[in-house]
Amino acid sequence: MKPLSNSLQHMDVTTTLHPYTDARVHEEKGPLVIERGEGIHVIDSTGKKYIEALSGLWSVAVGFSQTRLRDAAAAQMEKLPYYHTFAGKGHEPSIRLSEKLVEMTPENLTRVFFTSSGSEANDTVVKMVWYMNNALGRPEKKKFLARNKAYHGITVASGSLTGLPANHRDFDLPAIPVVHLTCPHFYRFGHDGETEAEFSARLVKEAEDTILREGPKTIAAFIGEPVMGAGGVMVPPAGYWEGIAALCKKYDILLVADEVINGFGRTGARWGCEKMGFTPDILVTSKQLTSSYMPLAAVLFSEAIYDAIADNSHKIGTFGHGYTATGHPVATAVGLENLAIIEEQGLIENAARMGEQLQAGLAKFADHPLVGEVRGTGLIAAIELVADKATKRPFDPLGKVGAKAFEIGHEEGMIIRNLGDSLALCPPLIATAADVDEIVRIMGVILDRTAEWLAGDGAD
Ligand code: PMP
Repeated sequence: MKPLSNSLQHMDVTTTLHPYTDARVHEEKGPLVIERGEGIHVIDSTGKKYIEALSGLWSVAVGFSQTRLRDAAAAQMEKLPYYHTFAGKGHEPSIRLSEKLVEMTPENLTRVFFTSSGSEANDTVVKMVWYMNNALGRPEKKKFLARNKAYHGITVASGSLTGLPANHRDFDLPAIPVVHLTCPHFYRFGHDGETEAEFSARLVKEAEDTILREGPKTIAAFIGEPVMGAGGVMVPPAGYWEGIAALCKKYDILLVADEVINGFGRTGARWGCEKMGFTPDILVTSKQLTSSYMPLAAVLFSEAIYDAIADNSHKIGTFGHGYTATGHPVATAVGLENLAIIEEQGLIENAARMGEQLQAGLAKFADHPLVGEVRGTGLIAAIELVADKATKRPFDPLGKVGAKAFEIGHEEGMIIRNLGDSLALCPPLIATAADVDEIVRIMGVILDRTAEWLAGDGAD
């Protein structure tokens, strides 16, 4: 270790509480300090280079060294580093990005509200939907439907929508009215002898039964990631989204697509909802919007929602919601440049092509003794490790083997993410055919080394 990294490590363990980290283990191990980025790679403070096969946190579409984004940020810093959008103020980058997003999203989405994170965006969705229903004189229509294993963020409202135990336990969540439905993951939640079509139909019926039990007049919205991400990368089977979208229409429930991971080509289509074949009333995007070079998220919504909000805000004289950084000029300038790069370089089309190669490459691991399921679409995938392939029995405790595989990945020069014992991959959209081959090759090494460890030290 270099003295600098030692001192950084000391400073870190004595000062910082890390997100999604076991704090006591971290005090012993210290941080992995990442110093630089280069294409699809990051380099740590010892000079070790890694393929960032999760794009940071599912977000760096253009890789880690795109100078055009640096230049766009610098130019905007020079011209107008900060201004707000409260009380009718505006500035060019946020106006142009709103217009661009309206152009790029499904036709019915005509209005934009900016935040700095996906969590804030989903909190904004909750508040907008409540505000709208109060404005429409139906104050009882407030509940959300979400799914187990969903990830919608960690603030009080968005964390309530999330359907993962670690985000609720000891945080006193959920704190808003939300009902979580079965996760549409056939491998784990399909019944013995059930087909995928029957599974989809059962889950749609569960949603309808829930709506009828709770009372359609009390359900405001259904929120879902078209392809689920942080819960373990789950692609719902055919018929699921079609059925959910039809229910939302039937019972006057708003359909919210959380595209924070899916958006801008991740699934091989521009939007996950397009890939899954439904049209939302509200679409939430972040991450690949700026390749996470700057914090930014956006809520896109329909003219009907806008009208209800606009009429009511006119009555009371203001729409009392917004952040200091809503539409931040540097963040929106970087977003505009990032979307220009995605379009000019055909990165959505590249993701579709490379996605096919990735999925085909990973599919061959389905026969590996540790692997229960290989799943994904486009440039997002997961491999679920199981203790017993025939019965799908998970390892106990869940996550220990996944954590070992994650560690082996680091040793082999590739950063992945273990979600329990599912190993997630989500490489940058600029990945080439050679990059995808290398990712698949290293994944094979990770699986084999994990199996060896289990047969030896990991057995006890
Ligand atoms: N929604 C989804 C689908 C996400 O994957 C995430 C983050 N992983 C969020 C919302 C929350 O975004 P943020 O971390 O920017 O608050």
